[in-house]
Amino acid sequence: MGAEREITIIGGGLAGALLAILLARRGWSVDVFERRGDPRVDGYAGGRSINLALAERGLHALRQAGADDAVLQQAVMMRGRYVHPLQGEPGLQRYGRDDSEVIWSINRGELNIVLLTIAESHGARVHFDHALERVDFIDRIATFRHHEQQVKRPFQALVGADGAGSTLRAEMAKVQPLGERTEWLDHGYKELEIPPAADGGFRIEPNALHIWPRGHYMCIALPNDERTFTVTLFMPHAGSYPSFEQVQNGDDAMALFQAQFPDTLPLIPALRHDYDANPVGSLATLYLDHWHMGSHAVLLGDAAHAMVPFHGQGMNCAFEDCVALAEHLERAPALGDAFAAFEAERKPNAEAIQKMALENYIEMRDKVDDAEFLLQRQLELALQERHPGRFVPHYAMVTFMRIPYATALHRSEVQRGILVDATRGLVSLDDVDWAAVDAAVVANLEPL
Ligand SMILES: Cc1cc2nc3c(=O)[nH]c(=O)nc-3n(C[C@H](O)[C@H](O)[C@H](O)COP(=O)(O)OP(=O)(O)OC[C@H]3O[C@@H](n4cnc5c(N)ncnc54)[C@H](O)[C@@H]3O)c2cc1C
Repeated sequence: MGAEREITIIGGGLAGALLAILLARRGWSVDVFERRGDPRVDGYAGGRSINLALAERGLHALRQAGADDAVLQQAVMMRGRYVHPLQGEPGLQRYGRDDSEVIWSINRGELNIVLLTIAESHGARVHFDHALERVDFIDRIATFRHHEQQVKRPFQALVGADGAGSTLRAEMAKVQPLGERTEWLDHGYKELEIPPAADGGFRIEPNALHIWPRGHYMCIALPNDERTFTVTLFMPHAGSYPSFEQVQNGDDAMALFQAQFPDTLPLIPALRHDYDANPVGSLATLYLDHWHMGSHAVLLGDAAHAMVPFHGQGMNCAFEDCVALAEHLERAPALGDAFAAFEAERKPNAEAIQKMALENYIEMRDKVDDAEFLLQRQLELALQERHPGRFVPHYAMVTFMRIPYATALHRSEVQRGILVDATRGLVSLDDVDWAAVDAAVVANLEPL
């Protein structure tokens, strides 16, 4: 692309900072406008340790940006889900075959700082404390709130990486309907913390994503490199006990945890305080019919397709968006063509992972300690051994591979049918009709 190699990114969060690196490294003139202050000066907004699961798609994008080493230095490996049933022994269910198939727990604030620093080192200009307020798409002028002032900046094209509540999206929608639809989940979440042990170490197994599944609600915990765990309680906003409507304060939370998560009580000494202090977060899936407006603007990451967090893929998907957009911008003859090609490639895939993320909530909170599910999981692993490269477990396709999400969704649906049919009425794999299952795999799944 010739004279147009200038881009203005709204939002210097995870996707905005990564895209800035990818384009600045290719010689683009990049300006990033971020509503918050510089986290290296002001500390990361919120101050709490919030972590995210990084998987192969996100890691691949970080490799493209030369940011993987710096990020992995601060990451904690998670080999699988460590399931804590209410009754019975807790234990690890590996995600993959071995330590080549793992995910990483990373600190959101540290990750953002690494990416912003690398972006600036490649010449991207990051303007902190600049909140987008309005866009004049005719004269291509964006207006920002900078402290008490309004600042007007001309632009060639805008990329909206300003998250689920995107102002750019709202400004675009004033000019051209985007077909926006938000489906709120009737469950919310609250973050708590497991501090380090007295000797400074981790209080529970560090190399795992811990889950306390309880049917219609659950707790999870992800490790942080400072030896803490961020615990997230997910449950309905209202309805049958427990819900946030009923568990209103720290005392109610103590009662809930004593009854339902008793092993966590000694681990979360500030439970009462944290429960009172931390807000209840809301979760939603955002669908749009259009992600871009001619050559003027395009949306990516949460601004285009926010999803519920239960597959740990929102950031991973946003990072994949960045790689795809940077490639289309390099290849296409003009900005508008690049935006259109980007949207055509990514929209079906975002919709696929949005669907899988919703489905995974039910799996995490209700299935991971269920005998039928565990038998299907055993068969899944056995079929992976019998048909390598052809029968690839659902979690592996989403997490350890980079095949399009839409392909992963389609194959997962076919595979689930095979698993359900083959284990119906069985209590162990001893009675599986292997000839029939093998035939179904070969007939229905092409090698990947
Ligand atoms: C509880 C929870 C757990 C999650 N866990 C995971 C996980 O394990 N793995 C995973 O991959 N994903 C996870 N996600 C999803 C992940 O957080 C998001 O998908 C990801 O942050 C999206 O990145 P983004 O850059 O698009 O948006 P954001 O990270 O929201 O960044 C948007 C940026 O834009 C800025 N901004 C907003 N408005 C303006 C404005 N008007 N002007 C200028 N700047 C503006 C914001 O300050 C922010 O810096 C989780 C989400 C939640 C809620």
